[in-house]
Amino acid sequence: MGSGERTPSSMALAAARPSGVTLRGIAGSPGVAVGPAYVVGDLHSAFQKRHVASSEIDGELARVSKAVEEAEQSLVEMSERMPVALRDTTQILEAYKLMLSDPALHDRVEHKVRKERKCAEWAVTESAEEISALFGAPTERDAYIVERRHDVEFVCDRLLRVLVGDSGPRLHLDRPMIVVARDLSPADTAGMVREPALGFVTCVGSRTSHTSIMARALEIPAVVGVADALSRIDTGDVVIIDGLTGDVTVNPSAEQIHDAQLRSEQHLAFARRLLSARHEPCTTSCGVPVSLAANVELPAEAILAADHGAQGIGLYRTEFLYIDRSTQPSEDEQYEVYRAIIEAVEPQPVTLRTFDIGGDKFASTFELPAEMNPALGLRAVRLALTQPEVFLTQLRAMVRASAHGPVRIMIPMVSRISELRQVRALLDRARQEVADRGQPHAAHIPLGTMIEVPAAALMADVFAREADFFSLGTNDLVQYSLAVDRASQSLADLASAHDPSILRLIHRVCEAARQRGRPVSLCGAMASNPLSACLLVGLGLRELSMEAAAIPEIKEAIRRVSVVEMEQLARDALACDGKEDVEALLSLRLAPRLQDLLAGYDADA
Ligand code: PEP
Ligand code: MG
Repeated sequence: MGSGERTPSSMALAAARPSGVTLRGIAGSPGVAVGPAYVVGDLHSAFQKRHVASSEIDGELARVSKAVEEAEQSLVEMSERMPVALRDTTQILEAYKLMLSDPALHDRVEHKVRKERKCAEWAVTESAEEISALFGAPTERDAYIVERRHDVEFVCDRLLRVLVGDSGPRLHLDRPMIVVARDLSPADTAGMVREPALGFVTCVGSRTSHTSIMARALEIPAVVGVADALSRIDTGDVVIIDGLTGDVTVNPSAEQIHDAQLRSEQHLAFARRLLSARHEPCTTSCGVPVSLAANVELPAEAILAADHGAQGIGLYRTEFLYIDRSTQPSEDEQYEVYRAIIEAVEPQPVTLRTFDIGGDKFASTFELPAEMNPALGLRAVRLALTQPEVFLTQLRAMVRASAHGPVRIMIPMVSRISELRQVRALLDRARQEVADRGQPHAAHIPLGTMIEVPAAALMADVFAREADFFSLGTNDLVQYSLAVDRASQSLADLASAHDPSILRLIHRVCEAARQRGRPVSLCGAMASNPLSACLLVGLGLRELSMEAAAIPEIKEAIRRVSVVEMEQLARDALACDGKEDVEALLSLRLAPRLQDLLAGYDADA
């Protein structure tokens, strides 16, 4: 899927309107599509904000209760319609059902209707806005906050659809079109398997939001986070969406359409070529193997990972099991999820990371203290050690899952050796408890630490004596070493993994691991950049883990360069004064050879 038809009518339409307004969004799923837009109406403008008389209050509240019931029913129907390959998404729908019955929402809505005399639609919209605001100000890079706000908006939309008398405008496209919506539910997105959608544009969302993840799984180009999409695009407008750059061009000129179609064809040919080699081993041009694994958040992504040639799961962020729900996940529930992931990639290994909650990762099932600096507070292993029963439940589920394939357990945000020792003691206890019940499990489960706090990087030689493996989390290592909030948009330029201080820490950790013969991998976002990936191999890494969709292109990048070249590059980068010099060096040495990978398509094809 991808390129639209270049019909005479679409060309005429393009010529009749002012050409080429470009809206900027976030590249959600790669590829370029051209075609007429199908705009799914904005429910927020489909009702009047109205004060109600006291005699209407009970009636309005009854409308809300009925809307909750119908919205729940529509979520059940969505789960049933979900294609089998995306069935894991029903977990998200379950979470939405819980949110629909959340007292925090109900109490607010009731207050607004009873005390402020607002109509049901107005009360629901305002309550959702207030709950969203409780998550704090979102930024483009702050995936958790953006996604949680997005979930609240989705639930509010379901209620509004019922209240405004539109119990779910289904997408029925009679010809290939580009769907433009404020947001798309997982079921709407999954439904695109049957609808001839050329691509999606949404007003909200991030690269890691559900729409983007599913669009990538379905290989449909998508641009998300285009705030003004609904006010700037009308049904029938010809649009170009570029899921490589995040640009959306409305009513393009004939030349822009021609250019986009060319790029679409180039991207498709390029993606096909990369995918056709996805199951080939990843070796440098001189034959040294480098293992590429996948980072996953949703269990459905494990299938995607195996499909993109991942050599296992290098990071499963288990915290996703704890969010958007009112009770902690049980041992059995976790065991089933871990087992499904292990079986999806077996015999390749799976690294299960114990929950990383706190900081910017909020889960209402934990009572987190209000802290001035949550990123420096009760997060990840620190939180886990204060809740040994919750933690032991997770560890037992992991131990049981180890009976189904190779498993490693990894601890996030470790800063002191005593934390590793405490977790090891709890893991031993969990193993004993599982054994006492007569349940099967692996004889040995490696226990490793994430290296994402500078203290741990500096003490890597000490950690290497006791940790079975390391995984460098550069997203946090950058945040903590450079003292730059990873969610800050205004300081995003300072938060570079190419800063020589970060390269020196990575190098030091690789050396400490090498001296003790401990495996070391890297699972921060840095691994999915072709230039950085080559630099990392030069710094000594032979295992990288990244989002599944990036694996084919990183494999291709590594295949084109020799270890000698990468090691020379790393030596020169380590000697640089600043990140600008490192980036200039990468561009000079590698960019000409990796140009097609950096652009997302083969410009010479
Ligand atoms: C990291 O910090 O680099 C990492 C992989 O962990 P997360 O992004 O989940 O904090
Ligand atoms: Mg981290």
